[in-house]
Amino acid sequence: MAQHFLLSAAARSLSAAKIMRMSDHGVENVFLRLRWPDTDGKPVCPTCGCMISYDCRRPEGQPRWRCKACRGDFSITSGTLFAWHKLPLRTYLLGVAAFCNEVKGKSMLAFSRELDVQYKTAFVLAHKLGEAVSFSVKALRIGGKGKVAEIEGAYFGGHIRPENRAIDRLDRRLAENQSDKRQVVVVMRERQGRTLVQVAPAEAAAVPTIRQRIAKGTVLHADESPAWNKLHAGLAMQRINHQDGYSIDGACTNRAESYFSRLRRGRSGIITTSPGRISSAAPRKRAGEKMRAASATASRCMLLSAWRWGAGPRSVSAATGSGHGPPDAPVT
Ligand SMILES: [Zn+2]
Repeated sequence: MAQHFLLSAAARSLSAAKIMRMSDHGVENVFLRLRWPDTDGKPVCPTCGCMISYDCRRPEGQPRWRCKACRGDFSITSGTLFAWHKLPLRTYLLGVAAFCNEVKGKSMLAFSRELDVQYKTAFVLAHKLGEAVSFSVKALRIGGKGKVAEIEGAYFGGHIRPENRAIDRLDRRLAENQSDKRQVVVVMRERQGRTLVQVAPAEAAAVPTIRQRIAKGTVLHADESPAWNKLHAGLAMQRINHQDGYSIDGACTNRAESYFSRLRRGRSGIITTSPGRISSAAPRKRAGEKMRAASATASRCMLLSAWRWGAGPRSVSAATGSGHGPPDAPVT
């Protein structure tokens, strides 16, 4: 029996042990390959895109280049989320490794202890990385002719905490006593490909996004929810009624479901609160906003848990690379 990818050595390509064994020059080279994957680490001016630059390393040893076209100086991190960084590049690389390798989210206190930085520093760094990953899949479409994708929705949030005294407790089964903060997370997952997520108030509200993000010609597997009926116009559909079984005549949404098993574990164990986007000064209060951040974290985990360092690094800093889809990863 073939070994699963996540058990193979190729899946352990980026580890804290490897980073700690690297020389400063080695760390610099890794960042160069991450920053400019298209040119195999050769610097490209972030201002004008010129590919010819001169080495202008500073006397203290910091790498800098001067663009031949615009004469501007730039560093490895210019124009990225690491710009004007204060910590050594090795610390950021360790942060990236920890961020990618934790499949169900990362406690920010543990993150701060590992990097030996303040809690707030770790928190902001992790959210910058999360946003970079979210940005990289913002305009991504999955599927296409001959491809198969699955969709599935699961509800999160809106928990009503029961009162202390039984006499004061509400009947939470009644609609009028339920919270309007409950949101549905809709996952779109291509088989042997990428995973996209949308947070919506109801499954039906996610239909326009599904049409937008899943390319024409895709065979789409979905469950019996009537919300997906509209998708029959435009997409070849296979439906599975979960009351009859999980996989019948080839129709199943098990891979999409596996996304939720990871999301739920992260949601209950790690992602207890989140302020959402780091650009927002005010703390988030609505459960839906929390779920967006939580699902972004889970997306990131699904995308990066099978990240093969040597086979084509994704540019986290530039966050524009197409990357490559992990194999159909089981929930670890
Ligand atoms: Zn330039």
